[in-house]
Amino acid sequence: MSKYKGVDGRGFSTRSVHAGESRKKHADAITTPIVQSSVYVFEDTAEIQKYVADKRTRFEYGRYGNPTQRVAEEKLAALEKTEDALLFSTGMSAVTTALLAFLSKGDHLVVTDDCYRKTRTFCETTLARLGVDTTFVPAGDYEALRDAMTGKTKVVLTETPTNPHLRVIDVPRAAKIAAARKAKLFVDSTLATPYNLQALTLGADLVIHSATKYLGGHNDLLAGVVMGPASVVDPVRDLQGQLGGTIDPHCAYLLLRGLKTLALRVEKHNRNGLAMARFLEGYPKIEEVYYPGLETHPDYAIAKEQMKGSGGVVSFLIKGGSDETLRFIDNLKLPYLGPSFGGVESLVYHPATLTFNDMPRAKREKLGIGDNLVRYAAGIEDEEDIIADLDRALRVV
Ligand SMILES: *Cc1c(COP(=O)(O)O)cnc(C)c1O
Repeated sequence: MSKYKGVDGRGFSTRSVHAGESRKKHADAITTPIVQSSVYVFEDTAEIQKYVADKRTRFEYGRYGNPTQRVAEEKLAALEKTEDALLFSTGMSAVTTALLAFLSKGDHLVVTDDCYRKTRTFCETTLARLGVDTTFVPAGDYEALRDAMTGKTKVVLTETPTNPHLRVIDVPRAAKIAAARKAKLFVDSTLATPYNLQALTLGADLVIHSATKYLGGHNDLLAGVVMGPASVVDPVRDLQGQLGGTIDPHCAYLLLRGLKTLALRVEKHNRNGLAMARFLEGYPKIEEVYYPGLETHPDYAIAKEQMKGSGGVVSFLIKGGSDETLRFIDNLKLPYLGPSFGGVESLVYHPATLTFNDMPRAKREKLGIGDNLVRYAAGIEDEEDIIADLDRALRVV
């Protein structure tokens, strides 16, 4: 893969459409084909020898990559303005494979605490079982981050914005703290997207996304990606060859299709998210709103400096308890009720009854997951309709 293929100084939307795509088209068809094959065959042994000398020239076996996947990877690398991208079957496969590639028995990992539930579980159970120790530090507490670092710390993993409390991490500051201990900074920037945040240019060593969310964008696929310099992505690729979390060619095609409209969609998510947050802030039945695009948010200044927009996810507290909150959710008519975010359809989610229902109340409340916490992931519907629906459901509370 050539360095920065398809960037050429062109804008984000142009790269979304054209980067990674060959101008010489298979069967003259404008779209990249779904190459649905597990095996790639050689003409003769000389061709095998040419291939083993430079593995980037063609394909061998589907677990090590396929042509549709490669186009999507080159497009993603161009969007994130970096050298290499590697796609996975899910976001969790990307997160776990990246961590396993850089952590061995006796190593130490630091993770910011407002993080994806399964990422936390992986650190607390699987990594612990393999002899890797994890320290969780409060997102946004840079003193705690510095204090948690030891001579054994190999990786710092942070999400930004975090979920569900939407803290925004000062990436250059976190990168400096990690680098002082020769640790790598991994940033899960799923909520940000490459449109809103370019964490690699701010000092991250590796960026991870659940492509299931905004990158795919249509609630119809599962995928993950890691991106960064080849020197950091290569060990992850080697381990993916062993663990096998490869993306399917058909899924890579769906992702390619979604990526072409990423800028348009994220612009709309940004507008809807901000409109919702402004509407909810100060609404009498709302106790608190978490959205980094609001001037009252603790990370507003960092978000303004680092991010183009704050995305479509807004979390908030309903005044009252479980009864009021569930009544509000059940009275919403526009969003679907379910987990996830980043697709064209709005989704509303109640963390206490779904993802955290098995966690003792005291522990989940310590993580800020109270009965009255709601996460609303705005889709790309008209903001007037989203707000009218919110207003109507809040009146019933
Ligand atoms: C959804 C998500 C993941 C996991 O991705 P999957 O595609 O569901 O496996 C990881 N990190 C963050 C921040 C997420 O939102």
